[in-house]
Amino acid sequence: MGKKVKVRFAPSPTGDLHVGNIRTALFDWAYARHTGGTFLFRIEDTDTTRVTDEYIQAAIDTLKWLGLNWDEGPEVGGENGPYLQSQRLDIYAEWAQKFLDQKDAYHCYCTPAELEATREAQRAANVAPGYDGKCRDLSAEQIAAYKSEGREAVVRMRMPDGSTTFVDEIRGEVVFDHKFVPDFVLVRADGSPLYTLAVAVDDVLMKVTHVLRGEDLLSSTPRQIRVYQAMGVKPEDYPVFAHLPFVMGQDNAKLSKRNGEVSIAWYREQGYLPEAICNYLALLGWSPGDDRENITMKELCELFTVEKVHSSPARFDMKKLEAINGDKIRALTLDEFLNWSLPFLIKAGVITGTDSEIALVKAALPIIQERIVKLDEIPQMLKFLFVKDFGVEAESVSKITDSLSKDILKRSVKELEPLSAWNHDSIEAALRASLIEEMGLKPRIAFTAIRIATTGSTISPPLFESMELLGKEASLARIAAALTL
Ligand code: GLU
Repeated sequence: MGKKVKVRFAPSPTGDLHVGNIRTALFDWAYARHTGGTFLFRIEDTDTTRVTDEYIQAAIDTLKWLGLNWDEGPEVGGENGPYLQSQRLDIYAEWAQKFLDQKDAYHCYCTPAELEATREAQRAANVAPGYDGKCRDLSAEQIAAYKSEGREAVVRMRMPDGSTTFVDEIRGEVVFDHKFVPDFVLVRADGSPLYTLAVAVDDVLMKVTHVLRGEDLLSSTPRQIRVYQAMGVKPEDYPVFAHLPFVMGQDNAKLSKRNGEVSIAWYREQGYLPEAICNYLALLGWSPGDDRENITMKELCELFTVEKVHSSPARFDMKKLEAINGDKIRALTLDEFLNWSLPFLIKAGVITGTDSEIALVKAALPIIQERIVKLDEIPQMLKFLFVKDFGVEAESVSKITDSLSKDILKRSVKELEPLSAWNHDSIEAALRASLIEEMGLKPRIAFTAIRIATTGSTISPPLFESMELLGKEASLARIAAALTL
Protein backbone atom coordinates (compact mmCIF):
# COMPACT_ATOMS: atom_id res chain seq x y z
CA MET A 1 0.00 0.00 0.00
CA GLY A 2 1.32 3.43 -0.95
CA LYS A 3 2.04 6.08 1.61
CA LYS A 4 -0.74 8.52 2.43
CA VAL A 5 -0.18 11.60 0.33
CA LYS A 6 0.87 14.81 2.02
CA VAL A 7 1.30 17.91 -0.14
CA ARG A 8 2.47 21.27 1.09
CA PHE A 9 2.11 24.85 -0.03
CA ALA A 10 5.02 26.83 1.36
CA PRO A 11 5.04 30.46 0.27
CA SER A 12 7.50 33.13 1.39
CA PRO A 13 5.09 36.04 1.73
CA THR A 14 7.26 38.95 0.65
CA GLY A 15 4.19 40.64 -0.84
CA ASP A 16 0.59 39.73 -1.59
CA LEU A 17 0.25 36.23 -3.00
CA HIS A 18 0.13 36.42 -6.77
CA VAL A 19 -1.40 34.41 -9.55
CA GLY A 20 1.56 32.04 -9.79
CA ASN A 21 1.58 31.28 -6.04
CA ILE A 22 -2.13 30.64 -6.02
CA ARG A 23 -2.00 28.38 -9.04
CA THR A 24 0.57 26.32 -7.09
CA ALA A 25 -1.58 26.36 -3.93
CA LEU A 26 -4.62 25.30 -5.92
CA PHE A 27 -2.84 22.36 -7.54
CA ASP A 28 -1.38 21.32 -4.17
CA TRP A 29 -4.81 21.48 -2.57
CA ALA A 30 -6.55 19.70 -5.44
CA TYR A 31 -3.96 16.94 -5.42
CA ALA A 32 -4.36 16.43 -1.68
CA ARG A 33 -8.14 16.36 -2.00
CA HIS A 34 -8.07 14.07 -5.03
CA THR A 35 -5.92 11.52 -3.24
CA GLY A 36 -7.64 11.81 0.13
CA GLY A 37 -4.32 13.05 1.49
CA THR A 38 -3.28 15.95 3.68
CA PHE A 39 -2.82 19.56 2.58
CA LEU A 40 -0.16 21.25 4.68
CA PHE A 41 0.36 25.02 4.68
CA ARG A 42 3.72 26.33 5.85
CA ILE A 43 4.98 29.89 5.95
CA GLU A 44 8.61 30.27 4.87
CA ASP A 45 9.47 33.45 6.70
CA THR A 46 13.15 33.05 7.48
CA ASP A 47 14.00 36.10 5.38
CA THR A 48 12.86 38.58 7.98
CA THR A 49 14.00 41.53 5.91
CA ARG A 50 11.34 40.83 3.28
CA VAL A 51 8.54 38.89 4.94
CA THR A 52 6.19 40.93 7.15
CA ASP A 53 3.42 39.97 9.57
CA GLU A 54 0.91 41.76 7.33
CA TYR A 55 1.90 39.69 4.31
CA ILE A 56 1.74 36.50 6.35
CA GLN A 57 -1.77 37.36 7.52
CA ALA A 58 -2.75 38.33 3.98
CA ALA A 59 -1.53 34.95 2.70
CA ILE A 60 -3.62 33.15 5.32
CA ASP A 61 -6.67 35.26 4.49
CA THR A 62 -6.26 34.76 0.75
CA LEU A 63 -6.15 30.99 1.04
CA LYS A 64 -9.22 31.06 3.25
CA TRP A 65 -11.05 33.39 0.89
CA LEU A 66 -10.31 31.08 -2.01
CA GLY A 67 -11.63 28.11 -0.06
CA LEU A 68 -8.28 26.30 -0.10
CA ASN A 69 -8.66 24.91 3.40
CA TRP A 70 -5.63 23.25 4.93
CA ASP A 71 -5.36 20.30 7.31
CA GLU A 72 -2.10 21.28 8.95
CA GLY A 73 -0.68 24.76 9.26
CA PRO A 74 -1.17 28.20 10.80
CA GLU A 75 -4.35 28.63 12.84
CA VAL A 76 -5.40 24.97 12.50
CA GLY A 77 -2.21 23.52 13.99
CA GLY A 78 -1.19 19.88 13.59
CA GLU A 79 1.28 17.39 14.92
CA ASN A 80 4.24 18.69 12.89
CA GLY A 81 4.11 22.34 13.92
CA PRO A 82 4.98 25.07 14.34
CA TYR A 83 4.24 25.95 10.73
CA LEU A 84 6.02 29.29 10.62
CA GLN A 85 9.68 28.72 9.88
CA SER A 86 10.64 31.68 12.06
CA GLN A 87 9.43 29.58 15.00
CA ARG A 88 11.61 26.61 14.04
CA LEU A 89 15.05 28.19 14.06
CA ASP A 90 16.41 25.86 16.76
CA ILE A 91 15.53 22.87 14.62
CA TYR A 92 17.52 24.20 11.63
CA ALA A 93 20.46 25.13 13.87
CA GLU A 94 20.57 21.59 15.28
CA TRP A 95 20.62 20.03 11.84
CA ALA A 96 23.27 22.44 10.60
CA GLN A 97 25.41 21.45 13.58
CA LYS A 98 24.85 17.79 12.82
CA PHE A 99 25.94 18.33 9.21
CA LEU A 100 29.07 20.08 10.47
CA ASP A 101 29.78 17.22 12.86
CA GLN A 102 29.32 14.71 10.04
CA LYS A 103 31.61 16.78 7.80
CA ASP A 104 28.82 17.13 5.27
CA ALA A 105 29.06 20.85 5.88
CA TYR A 106 31.90 23.20 6.82
CA HIS A 107 32.49 26.74 7.97
CA CYS A 108 33.37 29.13 5.19
CA TYR A 109 35.18 32.35 6.11
CA CYS A 110 35.32 33.95 2.67
CA THR A 111 34.34 37.60 2.67
CA PRO A 112 31.82 38.99 0.18
CA ALA A 113 34.71 40.78 -1.58
CA GLU A 114 36.64 37.50 -1.97
CA LEU A 115 33.57 35.73 -3.28
CA GLU A 116 33.02 38.51 -5.79
CA ALA A 117 36.66 38.31 -6.90
CA THR A 118 36.25 34.56 -7.46
CA ARG A 119 33.13 35.13 -9.53
CA GLU A 120 34.92 37.79 -11.53
CA ALA A 121 37.80 35.42 -12.27
CA GLN A 122 35.35 32.66 -13.24
CA ARG A 123 33.57 34.98 -15.63
CA ALA A 124 36.88 35.98 -17.18
CA ALA A 125 37.88 32.33 -17.58
CA ASN A 126 34.42 31.47 -18.90
CA VAL A 127 33.74 28.77 -16.31
CA ALA A 128 30.49 28.19 -14.43
CA PRO A 129 30.18 30.65 -11.55
CA GLY A 130 29.95 29.38 -8.00
CA TYR A 131 31.85 28.78 -4.84
CA ASP A 132 35.27 27.32 -5.54
CA GLY A 133 35.57 25.25 -2.38
CA LYS A 134 38.34 27.36 -0.86
CA CYS A 135 37.31 26.75 2.76
CA ARG A 136 36.43 23.08 2.33
CA ASP A 137 39.39 21.67 4.16
CA LEU A 138 40.86 24.44 6.28
CA SER A 139 43.48 23.54 8.85
CA ALA A 140 43.01 24.46 12.49
CA GLU A 141 45.66 27.20 12.07
CA GLN A 142 43.87 28.75 9.11
CA ILE A 143 40.62 28.76 11.00
CA ALA A 144 42.28 30.36 14.01
CA ALA A 145 43.87 32.99 11.76
CA TYR A 146 40.55 33.86 10.12
CA LYS A 147 38.88 34.09 13.50
CA SER A 148 41.57 36.36 14.84
CA GLU A 149 40.93 38.66 11.88
CA GLY A 150 37.37 38.87 13.17
CA ARG A 151 35.91 37.04 10.18
CA GLU A 152 32.49 35.45 10.63
CA ALA A 153 31.69 32.13 9.10
CA VAL A 154 28.73 30.87 7.11
CA VAL A 155 27.88 27.16 7.07
CA ARG A 156 28.28 25.62 3.64
CA MET A 157 27.13 22.25 2.39
CA ARG A 158 29.72 20.11 0.67
CA MET A 159 28.50 18.96 -2.76
CA PRO A 160 30.26 15.75 -3.74
CA ASP A 161 31.48 15.24 -7.29
CA GLY A 162 29.04 13.53 -9.60
CA SER A 163 25.45 14.34 -10.32
CA THR A 164 21.93 14.19 -8.91
CA THR A 165 19.19 12.44 -10.85
CA PHE A 166 15.55 12.45 -9.92
CA VAL A 167 12.28 11.79 -11.68
CA ASP A 168 10.06 14.81 -11.90
CA GLU A 169 6.43 13.76 -12.25
CA ILE A 170 5.88 16.38 -14.94
CA ARG A 171 9.21 16.57 -16.73
CA GLY A 172 10.48 13.02 -16.39
CA GLU A 173 14.10 12.30 -15.48
CA VAL A 174 16.13 15.36 -14.57
CA VAL A 175 19.91 15.26 -14.13
CA PHE A 176 22.02 17.94 -12.47
CA ASP A 177 25.76 17.74 -12.92
CA HIS A 178 27.38 18.95 -9.69
CA LYS A 179 29.82 20.99 -11.73
CA PHE A 180 26.91 23.41 -11.86
CA VAL A 181 25.81 22.91 -8.26
CA PRO A 182 28.57 24.44 -6.14
CA ASP A 183 28.80 24.10 -2.38
CA PHE A 184 25.94 26.22 -1.05
CA VAL A 185 25.26 28.21 2.08
CA LEU A 186 22.97 26.65 4.69
CA VAL A 187 23.34 29.20 7.48
CA ARG A 188 24.28 32.87 7.21
CA ALA A 189 26.99 34.45 9.35
CA ASP A 190 24.30 35.82 11.67
CA GLY A 191 23.05 32.29 12.30
CA SER A 192 19.89 32.54 10.21
CA PRO A 193 19.05 29.57 8.00
CA LEU A 194 18.70 29.79 4.25
CA TYR A 195 15.71 28.59 2.32
CA THR A 196 17.44 25.44 1.05
CA LEU A 197 18.13 24.19 4.56
CA ALA A 198 14.76 25.10 6.05
CA VAL A 199 12.65 23.81 3.18
CA ALA A 200 14.41 20.45 3.03
CA VAL A 201 14.46 19.91 6.80
CA ASP A 202 10.77 20.78 7.05
CA ASP A 203 9.69 18.63 4.15
CA VAL A 204 11.36 15.68 5.83
CA LEU A 205 10.23 16.39 9.40
CA MET A 206 6.69 17.24 8.31
CA LYS A 207 6.56 13.99 6.30
CA VAL A 208 5.73 15.64 3.01
CA THR A 209 5.34 13.03 0.25
CA HIS A 210 4.79 15.33 -2.75
CA VAL A 211 6.39 18.64 -3.65
CA LEU A 212 4.30 20.32 -6.35
CA ARG A 213 5.70 23.78 -6.90
CA GLY A 214 6.73 26.30 -9.51
CA GLU A 215 9.32 25.54 -12.13
CA ASP A 216 11.48 28.39 -10.83
CA LEU A 217 12.47 26.08 -7.96
CA LEU A 218 13.58 23.18 -10.16
CA SER A 219 17.25 24.10 -9.86
CA SER A 220 17.16 24.07 -6.07
CA THR A 221 16.07 20.41 -6.05
CA PRO A 222 19.58 18.85 -6.17
CA ARG A 223 20.55 20.98 -3.15
CA GLN A 224 17.48 19.86 -1.25
CA ILE A 225 18.21 16.25 -2.10
CA ARG A 226 21.72 16.78 -0.75
CA VAL A 227 20.20 17.95 2.53
CA TYR A 228 17.98 14.83 2.67
CA GLN A 229 21.08 12.67 2.22
CA ALA A 230 22.85 14.46 5.03
CA MET A 231 19.78 13.94 7.20
CA GLY A 232 20.04 10.22 6.53
CA VAL A 233 16.81 9.95 4.57
CA LYS A 234 16.65 6.91 2.29
CA PRO A 235 16.08 7.71 -1.41
CA GLU A 236 12.77 5.84 -1.42
CA ASP A 237 11.58 8.25 1.27
CA TYR A 238 12.41 11.43 -0.63
CA PRO A 239 9.33 13.39 -1.59
CA VAL A 240 8.15 13.09 -5.16
CA PHE A 241 8.84 16.29 -7.11
CA ALA A 242 6.56 17.84 -9.72
CA HIS A 243 7.52 21.25 -11.07
CA LEU A 244 4.62 23.18 -12.52
CA PRO A 245 5.09 25.15 -15.74
CA PHE A 246 5.48 28.90 -15.60
CA VAL A 247 2.52 31.21 -15.97
CA MET A 248 3.33 33.75 -18.65
CA GLY A 249 1.68 37.11 -19.25
CA GLN A 250 -0.70 37.67 -22.13
CA ASP A 251 2.16 38.67 -24.40
CA ASN A 252 4.28 35.65 -23.47
CA ALA A 253 6.53 37.80 -21.30
CA LYS A 254 6.83 37.20 -17.58
CA LEU A 255 3.52 37.85 -15.83
CA SER A 256 3.45 41.42 -14.57
CA LYS A 257 1.14 44.31 -13.87
CA ARG A 258 1.19 45.21 -17.52
CA ASN A 259 -0.02 41.93 -18.98
CA GLY A 260 -2.21 40.34 -16.33
CA GLU A 261 -2.37 41.79 -12.86
CA VAL A 262 -0.50 39.58 -10.43
CA SER A 263 -1.78 40.16 -6.92
CA ILE A 264 -4.81 38.16 -5.81
CA ALA A 265 -5.87 41.09 -3.60
CA TRP A 266 -6.39 43.09 -6.77
CA TYR A 267 -8.72 40.47 -8.25
CA ARG A 268 -10.67 40.41 -5.04
CA GLU A 269 -11.16 44.18 -5.09
CA GLN A 270 -12.23 44.11 -8.71
CA GLY A 271 -15.00 41.70 -7.90
CA TYR A 272 -13.76 38.36 -9.11
CA LEU A 273 -15.32 35.44 -7.28
CA PRO A 274 -13.00 32.93 -5.64
CA GLU A 275 -14.59 30.08 -7.61
CA ALA A 276 -13.89 31.95 -10.83
CA ILE A 277 -10.25 32.54 -9.93
CA CYS A 278 -9.81 28.90 -8.94
CA ASN A 279 -11.64 27.66 -12.04
CA TYR A 280 -9.53 29.83 -14.28
CA LEU A 281 -6.22 29.06 -12.58
CA ALA A 282 -7.01 25.35 -12.66
CA LEU A 283 -6.94 25.58 -16.45
CA LEU A 284 -3.54 27.30 -16.45
CA GLY A 285 -1.31 24.36 -17.12
CA TRP A 286 -3.83 21.61 -16.43
CA SER A 287 -6.88 20.34 -18.23
CA PRO A 288 -9.59 17.96 -17.14
CA GLY A 289 -9.02 15.84 -20.25
CA ASP A 290 -11.75 17.44 -22.33
CA ASP A 291 -12.31 21.01 -23.45
CA ARG A 292 -14.75 22.11 -20.80
CA GLU A 293 -13.98 25.44 -19.23
CA ASN A 294 -16.49 25.54 -16.42
CA ILE A 295 -15.24 23.52 -13.49
CA THR A 296 -16.43 23.51 -9.91
CA MET A 297 -14.07 23.03 -6.99
CA LYS A 298 -15.65 19.63 -6.42
CA GLU A 299 -15.00 18.54 -10.01
CA LEU A 300 -11.44 19.81 -9.78
CA CYS A 301 -10.84 17.60 -6.74
CA GLU A 302 -12.35 14.62 -8.50
CA LEU A 303 -10.39 15.08 -11.71
CA PHE A 304 -7.02 16.54 -10.69
CA THR A 305 -4.04 14.34 -11.44
CA VAL A 306 -0.44 15.34 -12.02
CA GLU A 307 -0.38 13.39 -15.31
CA LYS A 308 -2.77 15.94 -16.77
CA VAL A 309 -0.48 18.87 -15.93
CA HIS A 310 1.23 20.17 -19.05
CA SER A 311 4.95 20.73 -19.15
CA SER A 312 4.82 23.81 -21.37
CA PRO A 313 4.21 27.29 -19.96
CA ALA A 314 0.65 28.48 -19.57
CA ARG A 315 -0.44 31.87 -20.83
CA PHE A 316 -2.58 34.14 -18.73
CA ASP A 317 -5.70 35.34 -20.53
CA MET A 318 -7.67 38.04 -18.76
CA LYS A 319 -10.60 37.80 -21.21
CA LYS A 320 -11.06 34.14 -20.39
CA LEU A 321 -10.97 34.87 -16.68
CA GLU A 322 -13.59 37.58 -17.17
CA ALA A 323 -15.82 35.21 -19.13
CA ILE A 324 -15.54 32.58 -16.40
CA ASN A 325 -16.26 35.19 -13.73
CA GLY A 326 -19.40 36.26 -15.59
CA ASP A 327 -20.52 32.61 -15.75
CA LYS A 328 -19.93 32.13 -12.03
CA ILE A 329 -21.86 35.32 -11.21
CA ARG A 330 -24.80 34.10 -13.29
CA ALA A 331 -24.71 30.79 -11.47
CA LEU A 332 -25.11 32.42 -8.02
CA THR A 333 -28.44 32.15 -6.21
CA LEU A 334 -30.07 35.49 -5.51
CA ASP A 335 -29.07 35.34 -1.84
CA GLU A 336 -25.46 34.51 -2.70
CA PHE A 337 -25.38 37.30 -5.23
CA LEU A 338 -26.81 39.67 -2.64
CA ASN A 339 -24.14 38.71 -0.12
CA TRP A 340 -21.36 39.32 -2.63
CA SER A 341 -22.87 42.62 -3.78
CA LEU A 342 -23.51 44.39 -0.49
CA PRO A 343 -19.86 45.02 0.47
CA PHE A 344 -19.20 46.54 -2.95
CA LEU A 345 -22.25 48.83 -2.68
CA ILE A 346 -21.40 49.87 0.87
CA LYS A 347 -17.75 50.48 0.07
CA ALA A 348 -18.70 52.64 -2.90
CA GLY A 349 -21.01 54.66 -0.65
CA VAL A 350 -24.12 53.77 -2.68
CA ILE A 351 -25.93 52.32 0.35
CA THR A 352 -25.28 52.24 4.07
CA GLY A 353 -26.86 48.84 4.54
CA THR A 354 -30.33 49.56 5.95
CA ASP A 355 -33.05 46.93 5.58
CA SER A 356 -34.98 48.95 3.04
CA GLU A 357 -31.88 49.51 0.93
CA ILE A 358 -31.05 45.82 1.04
CA ALA A 359 -34.60 44.96 -0.03
CA LEU A 360 -34.30 47.27 -3.03
CA VAL A 361 -30.88 45.86 -3.95
CA LYS A 362 -32.33 42.38 -3.80
CA ALA A 363 -35.18 43.40 -6.11
CA ALA A 364 -32.73 45.01 -8.54
CA LEU A 365 -30.05 42.32 -8.70
CA PRO A 366 -31.89 39.95 -11.06
CA ILE A 367 -31.89 42.59 -13.79
CA ILE A 368 -28.12 42.97 -13.71
CA GLN A 369 -27.03 39.41 -12.98
CA GLU A 370 -26.90 38.52 -16.68
CA ARG A 371 -25.03 41.66 -17.57
CA ILE A 372 -22.05 42.08 -15.31
CA VAL A 373 -18.66 40.46 -15.51
CA LYS A 374 -17.25 41.71 -12.21
CA LEU A 375 -18.85 42.68 -8.93
CA ASP A 376 -17.27 46.12 -8.96
CA GLU A 377 -19.65 47.08 -11.78
CA ILE A 378 -22.62 46.82 -9.41
CA PRO A 379 -22.35 50.24 -7.67
CA GLN A 380 -22.32 52.09 -10.98
CA MET A 381 -25.24 50.00 -12.24
CA LEU A 382 -27.47 50.50 -9.22
CA LYS A 383 -26.56 53.88 -7.87
CA PHE A 384 -29.43 55.57 -9.76
CA LEU A 385 -31.83 53.84 -7.38
CA PHE A 386 -30.25 55.24 -4.23
CA VAL A 387 -28.71 58.57 -5.05
CA LYS A 388 -30.15 61.42 -2.96
CA ASP A 389 -29.42 64.45 -5.13
CA PHE A 390 -30.04 62.91 -8.52
CA GLY A 391 -28.67 64.63 -11.58
CA VAL A 392 -27.83 63.60 -15.13
CA GLU A 393 -24.09 62.93 -15.56
CA ALA A 394 -22.32 65.87 -17.14
CA GLU A 395 -21.30 64.13 -20.36
CA SER A 396 -24.89 63.05 -21.11
CA VAL A 397 -26.70 66.34 -20.54
CA SER A 398 -26.18 67.56 -24.11
CA LYS A 399 -27.75 64.34 -25.41
CA ILE A 400 -31.18 65.22 -24.03
CA THR A 401 -31.41 68.97 -24.55
CA ASP A 402 -32.15 68.94 -28.31
CA SER A 403 -35.73 69.44 -29.45
CA LEU A 404 -36.32 65.80 -30.43
CA SER A 405 -35.24 64.61 -26.99
CA LYS A 406 -37.53 67.20 -25.39
CA ASP A 407 -40.42 65.91 -27.52
CA ILE A 408 -39.63 62.32 -26.50
CA LEU A 409 -39.49 63.22 -22.82
CA LYS A 410 -42.71 65.29 -22.96
CA ARG A 411 -44.53 62.55 -24.78
CA SER A 412 -43.37 59.90 -22.33
CA VAL A 413 -44.62 61.91 -19.35
CA LYS A 414 -47.97 62.17 -21.06
CA GLU A 415 -48.13 58.41 -21.67
CA LEU A 416 -46.80 57.33 -18.32
CA GLU A 417 -48.76 59.63 -16.04
CA PRO A 418 -52.11 57.89 -16.47
CA LEU A 419 -50.71 54.37 -15.93
CA SER A 420 -52.37 52.74 -12.97
CA ALA A 421 -50.25 49.59 -12.98
CA TRP A 422 -46.54 50.52 -12.78
CA ASN A 423 -44.49 47.58 -13.97
CA HIS A 424 -41.99 46.99 -16.73
CA ASP A 425 -44.61 45.50 -19.08
CA SER A 426 -47.04 48.38 -18.73
CA ILE A 427 -44.20 50.95 -19.03
CA GLU A 428 -42.80 49.28 -22.12
CA ALA A 429 -46.21 48.91 -23.79
CA ALA A 430 -47.07 52.57 -23.23
CA LEU A 431 -43.73 53.87 -24.48
CA ARG A 432 -43.54 51.60 -27.50
CA ALA A 433 -47.05 52.43 -28.65
CA SER A 434 -46.45 56.15 -28.52
CA LEU A 435 -42.76 56.66 -29.31
CA ILE A 436 -42.03 53.84 -31.71
CA GLU A 437 -45.33 53.14 -33.37
CA GLU A 438 -46.94 56.58 -33.40
CA MET A 439 -43.91 58.85 -33.58
CA GLY A 440 -42.00 56.36 -35.75
CA LEU A 441 -38.76 56.68 -33.77
CA LYS A 442 -35.97 54.12 -33.61
CA PRO A 443 -36.00 52.40 -30.20
CA ARG A 444 -32.39 53.30 -29.54
CA ILE A 445 -33.08 57.00 -29.98
CA ALA A 446 -36.33 57.05 -28.06
CA PHE A 447 -35.19 54.97 -25.14
CA THR A 448 -31.76 56.52 -24.77
CA ALA A 449 -33.34 59.87 -23.95
CA ILE A 450 -35.55 58.30 -21.29
CA ARG A 451 -32.68 56.23 -19.96
CA ILE A 452 -30.53 59.31 -19.47
CA ALA A 453 -33.37 61.22 -17.87
CA THR A 454 -34.29 58.48 -15.39
CA THR A 455 -30.96 56.83 -14.60
CA GLY A 456 -28.62 59.72 -15.32
CA SER A 457 -26.44 57.81 -17.75
CA THR A 458 -26.44 56.12 -21.14
CA ILE A 459 -25.39 52.91 -19.41
CA SER A 460 -27.90 51.34 -17.07
CA PRO A 461 -29.65 48.08 -16.39
CA PRO A 462 -32.62 47.33 -18.71
CA LEU A 463 -34.69 50.50 -18.95
CA PHE A 464 -38.24 49.36 -18.19
CA GLU A 465 -37.16 47.22 -15.25
CA SER A 466 -35.08 50.12 -13.96
CA MET A 467 -38.08 52.43 -14.13
CA GLU A 468 -40.27 49.91 -12.40
CA LEU A 469 -37.77 49.69 -9.52
CA LEU A 470 -37.37 53.43 -9.35
CA GLY A 471 -41.13 53.85 -9.02
CA LYS A 472 -43.60 55.99 -10.87
CA GLU A 473 -43.22 59.13 -8.82
CA ALA A 474 -39.43 59.28 -9.02
CA SER A 475 -39.35 58.31 -12.69
CA LEU A 476 -41.76 61.07 -13.67
CA ALA A 477 -40.06 63.60 -11.44
CA ARG A 478 -36.70 62.85 -13.07
CA ILE A 479 -38.12 63.17 -16.58
CA ALA A 480 -39.76 66.45 -15.59
CA ALA A 481 -36.44 67.69 -14.18
CA ALA A 482 -34.66 66.67 -17.40
CA LEU A 483 -37.06 68.82 -19.35
CA THR A 484 -35.78 71.87 -17.50
CA LEU A 485 -32.16 71.28 -18.52
N1 GLU B 1 9.08 29.39 -0.11
C1 GLU B 1 9.37 29.20 -1.51
C2 GLU B 1 8.86 30.36 -2.32
O1 GLU B 1 7.88 30.96 -2.00
C3 GLU B 1 8.74 27.95 -2.08
C4 GLU B 1 9.16 26.73 -1.39
C5 GLU B 1 8.88 25.47 -2.13
O2 GLU B 1 7.76 25.30 -2.65
O3 GLU B 1 9.74 24.61 -2.17
O4 GLU B 1 9.41 30.70 -3.31
